[in-house]
Amino acid sequence: MSSITLKSLSKQYSNEVKILDNINLHIQDKEFLVLLGPSGCGKSTLLRMIAGIEDISQGEVNIGDVCVNDVEPKDRGVAMVFQNYALYPHMTVYENMAYGLKIKKVKKSERERRIKAAADILQINPLLKRHPSQLSGGQKQRVAIGRAIVKEPNVFLMDEPLSNLDAKLRNEMRIEIKKLHERLNSTFIYVTHDQVEAVTLGDRIAIMADGKFRQIGTPLEIMNRPVDMFVANFISSPPINYLNAVLVKRQGQIYVDIEGVLMETQLPAERIPDNTEVIAGIRPEHCFITEDPNHSLAMKILFTEIIGTDVLLHLQFKTFNFIVKKSFDRTYTKGEEVRVGMSANHVNLFDKQTQTNLRCGQ
Ligand code: ADP
Repeated sequence: MSSITLKSLSKQYSNEVKILDNINLHIQDKEFLVLLGPSGCGKSTLLRMIAGIEDISQGEVNIGDVCVNDVEPKDRGVAMVFQNYALYPHMTVYENMAYGLKIKKVKKSERERRIKAAADILQINPLLKRHPSQLSGGQKQRVAIGRAIVKEPNVFLMDEPLSNLDAKLRNEMRIEIKKLHERLNSTFIYVTHDQVEAVTLGDRIAIMADGKFRQIGTPLEIMNRPVDMFVANFISSPPINYLNAVLVKRQGQIYVDIEGVLMETQLPAERIPDNTEVIAGIRPEHCFITEDPNHSLAMKILFTEIIGTDVLLHLQFKTFNFIVKKSFDRTYTKGEEVRVGMSANHVNLFDKQTQTNLRCGQ
C-alpha cells in the first residue's frame, strides 16, 4: 500500500514565517499527483519532507498506514528524482544506478537484473559504461530516473525533473514519464511550476501559493472551475480573458450581463442582490467567432499567433485585450472586426472584492 496522507503538516525555519502551513492531503495508491505553484511557494520543501530529507516542524507524513516521521529516508520506500540530476561524476552510469542498491546490500545478481530492466525501459543500455560528463542533458535525466527505478520504490518523488531540458526534449520526456507511471504502477508526486506539465501528467493537481493549497482537483475541474482568480491566472495559458459584468435578476433567475450579452448562470437567486458587479473570466478556447449579432461582442483584431493547426486571435474590446483560440481556418487581418461569442457554461464569475469564483461547485 503506497497511499500517502499528510496531516496538519507545517514547516517553519526558526523565527521565520511558516513556509508550509497546515497541509492536509490524501494521495491514493498509484495516483499521479502534481504539486503546481509559483517559485518559492513551498513545493520542494513539501516533497523533501515526504522523502525524509527535510525536518517536519509539525504534523505527520503517513505512507500507507504508517507514520514515517521518524523513519530514515532510505527505509521509506520512496525514490526521488532531482532537477539537477545529482549524478556522481566519478562513477559510470551503471555504477550510479548500482550505488543506492549496494548501500541497501542488494545482492550483485539482483542489482544486475534491476539495472538491466531499468535500462531497457529507458533505452539507455548503450550508455551504461559512460560517465555523466559524456551524456547530454536528456540522457542524464534518464539515468537519474533509472537510478530511482532500480530502487523499486512504492513512491516516486520528482522535483521539476524536466526543467533543465530544452522544449523539444521536455515534451518527449513528459510523455515518457506518463508511460512510466502507467508501466510501473506506483504512486507519483511531481513538482512543477509548468501548467502544461501539470495538466498533461496529473490525475489530480494541487495548486499551491504561500505555503498553502489553493485548490486540489482533476485538471478539468481546475481548468473549468478555478476557485479564484489566482488559480484561473495560473492554470491558463494563453491567459484567461476578463471582462466587467453585472449579475441581474429576471423572473427569479440570475443572469450575467457581459457588456450587453445576457447569459444564464444557475447562481442561487436568493443570495445574490440584483445588479451585483462581478468579473467574468473566459478561457480563450471557450470563445468562438460567430455571425450572430445578438449574443456576441464586436472586437478588433490586433494580431494573430499561429500555433500548429490553431490560431490565437489577439483582440481589442474597448480598453481590454482579449484572446480567442480557434482552429486556423483563414487569414485574419489587423484591424478587421469580428464578433466573439462565449460558451455560457464556461464563463466563470469572480467576486470583485474576494476574487473567489461564485460558480464553484456548479
Ligand atoms: P518551491 O519549490 O515552491 O520553489 P521551496 O520549497 O524551495 O519553494 O521554498 C519555499 C520557501 O522556503 C522559499 O521562500 C525559500 O526561500 C524558503 N527556504 C527554503 N529553504 C530554506 C532554508 N534552509 N532556510 C530558510 N528558508 C528556506
